[in-house]
Amino acid sequence: MRIAIAGISHETNSYCRDPTPAADFHQLRGDAMFRARGQESQLGGALAACERLGLTPVPILAVGAQPSGIIERAAYELFKQEILHGLEREAPIDGVLLNLHGAGVVDGIEDLEGDLAVSVRKLVGEAIPVVATFDLHGNVTQTMADALDGVFACHHYPHIDLHLRAEEAVELIVKMREENFRPVSHVETVPILMPTTTTFLGPGKAMLEAMLEAEAEDGVIDVSWFHGFPYTDTSVVGTHVVVTTREDRAAAERVGKRMAESLWNARETFRPRSLSAEEAVTEALIQPGKPVVINETSDNCGGGTPGDGTHLLKAMLDAELTDACFGFIVDADVAAQAHEAGTGATINIDLGGKYDDLHGDTLNLTGYVKALHDGHLVMQAMAKGSPINLGPMARLLVDGIDVIVASARSQTFDPEPFLAVGIDVMRYKIVALKSSNHFRAGFQDLAAAIVTADPPGLTTHQIQIFERNKAPQPLWPIHKDASYGEQHGQ
Ligand SMILES: [Zn+2]
Repeated sequence: MRIAIAGISHETNSYCRDPTPAADFHQLRGDAMFRARGQESQLGGALAACERLGLTPVPILAVGAQPSGIIERAAYELFKQEILHGLEREAPIDGVLLNLHGAGVVDGIEDLEGDLAVSVRKLVGEAIPVVATFDLHGNVTQTMADALDGVFACHHYPHIDLHLRAEEAVELIVKMREENFRPVSHVETVPILMPTTTTFLGPGKAMLEAMLEAEAEDGVIDVSWFHGFPYTDTSVVGTHVVVTTREDRAAAERVGKRMAESLWNARETFRPRSLSAEEAVTEALIQPGKPVVINETSDNCGGGTPGDGTHLLKAMLDAELTDACFGFIVDADVAAQAHEAGTGATINIDLGGKYDDLHGDTLNLTGYVKALHDGHLVMQAMAKGSPINLGPMARLLVDGIDVIVASARSQTFDPEPFLAVGIDVMRYKIVALKSSNHFRAGFQDLAAAIVTADPPGLTTHQIQIFERNKAPQPLWPIHKDASYGEQHGQ
């Protein structure tokens, strides 16, 4: 059995200033895609399933970029055509797996995944199974689901199961061919702008457990809870439950509406605390034990921010912390300056705050260059085994705080960026980083406590600051008249 594998993955933050060109995408084509073998990623999982089930993977194209602004139309068309031509060239195939995100927005196309799924379906015809895997931060449509035979979002945030969900998707292709059935998927959208919510604890964990219980019901193939991506102004924004059943559309809809109802009823439990940087530092200091991790959720490159925000670092410097490290701030100029000066040098730096006014002022500081690194790392918690390139890195000692500066935009996933420059986070009272929840996969087991800081930034929990022109209905928590379900008169 020949399984074609292709994908375009992008989480588009429509509030980002700049569009995203083709050059920003990491691109793997053909046999180069086999490099993902052994990685706990969508592609790695797809390849593992093919190997385990004795299928022949047919790699076409896999592209992905760091979350950023709206994708340039020409870039998307280029990738889409390459995928369609690849599928034509490799015919006959027995199934298609698309590795997607779900929150992709192209200039002129609000629903990247819907457009791509419909185009692929049109090309391969109704007889060939087409399934897809997603990030749970997707905003998805019924149009997209109708073009697919299976919709598999990762269940966890941190996304520790991307590879496992891809394996399930491949298994569905095989099952469809062997047992000759046609799955159906229903998309139920709830008008909730879901704050970034981990599934490792609290209300996110409880809700995921309920979804998994529904998934175990007779005839249900999958229940995917798409938290949705609130940092985008499109007409498909919200939280979505996608239920795939063997052949029963009414059952898919019934389960979807039931889960949507429980999401709506639980909405107040998802309302996040929003501490300023100063409040977060104060709260972290009174926690017993160490290390106490402060995550600056509002400057999470994994949601499209610049990563050069200075709010939290400034609060730490103002508090005159001495037993603290920060990993990391993105500022390629300062990293280059440190590499130029070399270890042992003392340099005057203008650090961060260069992208816009929202993420804080540029800090004029003096730093001692303690260590340098090329920034090539391998992820060790979420997406384990995947390479990550942070560009030239420097560890600067600034007023007693160890500050790591990187060159490429990324959030902090695990302690590797600290280890790279010789920092054992276990020895510090305060460990600061920029991430909303993915860091939990790498830090939850070692942190004595986690405190979330939410100063101004493009991924703040204060989502009312973003202008919305395209949402078709009132949305919780920003509109008082938001409602869901019959009892609310809809
Ligand atoms: Zn995500």
